[in-house]
Amino acid sequence: MYLYNSATRKKEEFQTHTPGHVEMYTCGPTVYHFAHIGNLRSYIMEDVLEKFLRYEGYSVNRVMNITDVGHLTSDADEGEDKMVKGAKRENKTVMDIAKFYTDAFFADCSKLNIKTPEVVQPATGLIAEFITTVQGLLEKGFAYEAGGNVYFDTSKLKSYHVFHNHDEEDLAVGVREGVEEDSNKRNKNDFVLWFTKSKFEDQALKWDSPWGVGYPGWHIECSCISMKYNGEYLDLHCGGVDNAFPHHTNEIAQSEAYLGHAWCKQWFHVAHLNTNSGKMSKSKGEFLTVSLLEEKGYDPIVYRFFCLQSHYRKGLVFSWENLDNATVAFNKLLSRIAALNPEGEVDSAVLAEYESKFKEQMGNDLNTSMGVTALYDALKAKANDATKLAILDSYDRVLSLSLLDKAAKIRAEQKKAQANQSAGGYTVTGEGDAEIDALVLARGEAKKAKNFAEADRIRDELKAKGIEVTDVPGGASWKRV
Ligand code: AMP
Ligand code: ZN
Repeated sequence: MYLYNSATRKKEEFQTHTPGHVEMYTCGPTVYHFAHIGNLRSYIMEDVLEKFLRYEGYSVNRVMNITDVGHLTSDADEGEDKMVKGAKRENKTVMDIAKFYTDAFFADCSKLNIKTPEVVQPATGLIAEFITTVQGLLEKGFAYEAGGNVYFDTSKLKSYHVFHNHDEEDLAVGVREGVEEDSNKRNKNDFVLWFTKSKFEDQALKWDSPWGVGYPGWHIECSCISMKYNGEYLDLHCGGVDNAFPHHTNEIAQSEAYLGHAWCKQWFHVAHLNTNSGKMSKSKGEFLTVSLLEEKGYDPIVYRFFCLQSHYRKGLVFSWENLDNATVAFNKLLSRIAALNPEGEVDSAVLAEYESKFKEQMGNDLNTSMGVTALYDALKAKANDATKLAILDSYDRVLSLSLLDKAAKIRAEQKKAQANQSAGGYTVTGEGDAEIDALVLARGEAKKAKNFAEADRIRDELKAKGIEVTDVPGGASWKRV
């Protein structure tokens, strides 16, 4: 498999320290607010990457942090702690906020078929390890104390900037929000490993340390969590492109300084989800969530499908119109799958041929848009329906669009409607969404039973979901408006 490596800025053959096994690390969410669908684009693409590695036959140990302390409003160690800001906004404790938004994050992931990593470690659970690593860096001469804080000394490194290939906007993240330079720093790029003093006093979570009561910097969290659960040699590190600098650059600096050898060879960065007004970000306050998509009547899996249609290294523009187009395409795809007859014997030679084709397509730098195209190719395979379904099922182990489950539901609904119709009953036609079909059918039944209040209530519920129902002879049809 070939994967673009942002550390070398080349597409390279994927390699691991232990043959057949991948140690993988993903930067997790900062849990001071809901994840927006931009964050979730990164997690979707990382999920597909992990599943594709497994499809290729690797075993994978995937580790992710939960940032529940130390991530300041500017990624360059200045400003207010994001968690404290979230707690103030909602009049709750930091730990309440962390628990609430961690649960919300995994609920969103589950709606998007994103698998939970093998290890999920909240930063607040590993403070002793952070302290040991900071102590080690001080002993090795890579860190210094100044003004109550411990800083990493970037001048001690042979090279610091590893990721040069970011545009101005990405690099600006490190110094955004008009904050002043920290005068304790010996070098411009030095960063905080441990805080005991900062510009704000009301940091809620603090721990005792050899340098006084304080809390860890954000970057040290990821290095330590990875070293603990992935070991000294990491094969693959992932995150959104805004994490490349300063966060990943600092992770490399401190991990390699501490370990005394190269740490992670391959870096996978997902480009941003943008709207017409620029990058979607939590700090801007206006952002789209999975719940909002649901409230507007979209199936969250359609958002996953939308993300898969484009390459992870290209910026993706979100608009409702784009999501509508994805909905139509996805529903058409499901209808075609639903029309396949699952009975019959699978031709294993054809299945194997299609699986190896898929590996080749996706193995070219995780080309998910080719992966989506492969679904349509499978529908055109010279094989019986059972084989086509087996190919689609196989691809869906990586793409995770619940294709066969959703198609089976449509098939069952269609069967029910046919039986209903032949019994002189009520037929629902729509855009291939079993849940909506069921509501429209319930409305028809309520009308038949002259329960008009219930029929109106269901019509309103459908309207709130953006569904328009039209009565037609023998039933009703619906569409999204
Ligand atoms: P955060 O919760 O802010 O720490 O970010 C969680 C993940 O989402 C990180 O890997 C970020 O790089 C990534 N991310 C943030 N904004 C976007 C965006 N607009 N599009 C894609 N990924 C993003
Ligand atoms: Zn990280």
